[in-house]
Amino acid sequence: MIRKAYDLIQKRKVEHIGEGAYNVVGEHGTYTVAQKINGEINCNCPGFIRRGRCSHSLAVLMLTKPELLRSVEREIERISEKQNS
Ligand SMILES: [Zn+2]
Repeated sequence: MIRKAYDLIQKRKVEHIGEGAYNVVGEHGTYTVAQKINGEINCNCPGFIRRGRCSHSLAVLMLTKPELLRSVEREIERISEKQNS
């Protein structure tokens, strides 16, 4: 799911539409992710409603937390190096 969220950012599928509000174009449709002032994130996709987490909300979280994005980048590089060797 982290990989999927990272791809959403890389492919610029996350659009800032207003204060704390983002449109994320997912595989199955476009969803709205809202971030509250306290940092809490909500998404209106079925996955989030069922499980309380999803790649869309994770993508927005990564966009708003550069240090998180960097650590995810490092992790993904590590994984792809392993696959190549
Ligand atoms: Zn979602």
